[in-house]
Amino acid sequence: SIVVTGATGNLGTFVVEGLLEKVPAEQITAVVRNEEKAAGLAARGVKIAVADYSAPETFDGVISAGDKVLLISGSEVGNDRVGQHTVVIEAAKAAGAALLVYTSAPGSLTAALADDHRGTEKVLLASGLPYVLLRNGWYNENYTEQLGPVLEYNAVTHAAGEGRVSSAARADYAAAAVTVLTGEGHENKTYELGGDAAWSFAEYAAELSRQTGKEIANNAVSVDAYAGILTSVGLPEPLAAILAGVDASVEKGELVVSSGDLSRLIGRPTTPIADSITAALKA
Ligand code: NDP
Repeated sequence: SIVVTGATGNLGTFVVEGLLEKVPAEQITAVVRNEEKAAGLAARGVKIAVADYSAPETFDGVISAGDKVLLISGSEVGNDRVGQHTVVIEAAKAAGAALLVYTSAPGSLTAALADDHRGTEKVLLASGLPYVLLRNGWYNENYTEQLGPVLEYNAVTHAAGEGRVSSAARADYAAAAVTVLTGEGHENKTYELGGDAAWSFAEYAAELSRQTGKEIANNAVSVDAYAGILTSVGLPEPLAAILAGVDASVEKGELVVSSGDLSRLIGRPTTPIADSITAALKA
């Protein structure tokens, strides 16, 4: 079987949809925290397993010998994600899984947000399991799903200077995971995944202006000022520091991935940021 954790999340939902186009539903196990959220998948014949990364015993019996497992990184930043991911890796190892695929972060990313991913990669490599590292670059949706304040103040506020981001749509990264889970020859490979084109925030603001017909400014501020803005709108200080740190990395070019691995794995160009803006404005 193919076991997908985080299956009711944004990325996991696209992955399971993609798998359903390629393999019979009963060969897919969706690992979820909330069974109700997975009712639609269950109705379509997908096997459901309820488990939490923080409770090792909940993974008993979820993974079987020969399974391919997609471990989608958890979303509880600051809550020992390395420990959480280790729970899944150990369960896969104990069961004799054939492959563990992990959604990581670009190898070039030095921001604090990458620490959990580097830590998890270490645990995975030490486990001896056949692995694939999907070092996912940034999602278009990190930006296009945050348009509320942008359209309210007519400004894109960031601390990335003239740095560029080669983002792609979540659906693109999900399609790459489907390729790896259903194809051959990916064992022990590390893929650096990013969009075909890199854009700057000035270009992003210009594209938003073009599509909305409004004058949307490119408001570049310092990393400290940006962290302050994020806390002033209610983000906890540690999270604000982490997000501002990502912008500092963008300025240094750490979120430009030019390997071409993503479009190669999915066999088509990646989704331009302009397309994700259009989709977000319609939603
Ligand atoms: P989501 O937040 O939509 O999904 C996270 C998934 O992880 C959810 O299904 C959630 O379960 C599950 N999860 C979280 N904590 C646990 C836990 N303790 N036990 C079991 N399952 C857990 O994020 P996305 O799908 O958009 O992205 C996937 C991951 O990629 C994120 O979790 C994050 O690590 C990373 N990410 C990457 C970004 C990028 O730009 N590359 C941007 C943002 C995140 P439930 O459905 O029950 O909530």
